[in-house]
Amino acid sequence: ATPMSIMVATGRGAQAGVLVRNAEALERFASADVLIVDKTGTLTEGRPALTDVAGLDGVTEEEVLRLAAALERGSEHPLAEAILSGAKARDIALPEATGFEAVTGRGVRGTVEGRAVALGNAALLADIGLSEDALSARAESLRDAGRTVMFLAVDGRLAGFVAVADPIRESAPEALETLHAHGLRVVMATGDNARTAAAVAGKLGLEEVHAGMSPQDKADLVARLRGEGLSVAMAGDGVNDAPALAAADVGIAMGTGADVAVQSAGLTLLKGDLRGLLRARRLAEATIANIR
Ligand code: ADP
Ligand code: MG
Repeated sequence: ATPMSIMVATGRGAQAGVLVRNAEALERFASADVLIVDKTGTLTEGRPALTDVAGLDGVTEEEVLRLAAALERGSEHPLAEAILSGAKARDIALPEATGFEAVTGRGVRGTVEGRAVALGNAALLADIGLSEDALSARAESLRDAGRTVMFLAVDGRLAGFVAVADPIRESAPEALETLHAHGLRVVMATGDNARTAAAVAGKLGLEEVHAGMSPQDKADLVARLRGEGLSVAMAGDGVNDAPALAAADVGIAMGTGADVAVQSAGLTLLKGDLRGLLRARRLAEATIANIR
């Protein structure tokens, strides 16, 4: 690789809205067979908004939101922001939470007003010996609309849920369709629920979906595909994507995402514009043609 063509590519990359760490990153993206994409914050905007609240067994919606938001004060997850904004919009005063604990890929736990409170997905409920059954029917119809449902447990009992919606990025449909048309196999990997993931994938025409994945599961998926001899690109925005970004032949971070994601990636899409993927692929192909 000549330093000149690399410099030119790096400069053009910046113009195309792509930050190029080094020439290898660009070269590897040009020859990638598979692109794994995270859902939340990568295919979607990553700015979820509260849409639904439900209480169970006499617990009011306001009480569900009050306890959920009290816990989320300790969290930096985008889901936490949605719940806190929702509580603020309804003028709900929030109590203090103590013993706060974030369970990566599952949710949050702590003590509020002397009660043990947990908020998160079905896996978090299972951790404390509960199931979502009593609220499943309502949760499933929200998931089919692409929403993310988080359950609230209070003192070992299911108390309700909150749900959020996170719109698909405007740049996603065109970018995915074009990459697919150019022969790239596109796979979704998400920590979110399978139904929610399927609803979002359906809107984007994605057929291959892996849901309920932990950060390690995402990295393992990358390793498995590489083990099949495929060259793997991984695009993600979060702390939970960092291991997979680092394990891929080329990691692609969203400029709107977490610092650790950007640090783990060879390419960064400025402003999180997925059309940058198309421009990066074209740029990479042109650069390689120049080099050889
Ligand atoms: P993704 O891969 O979609 O970015 P994560 O791995 O961060 O998602 O989280 C997976 C799931 O764990 C979420 O869909 C949510 O149900 C639950 N979860 C994670 N963090 C929180 C939180 N702070 N509050 C409530 N639920 C959470
Ligand atoms: Mg994400």
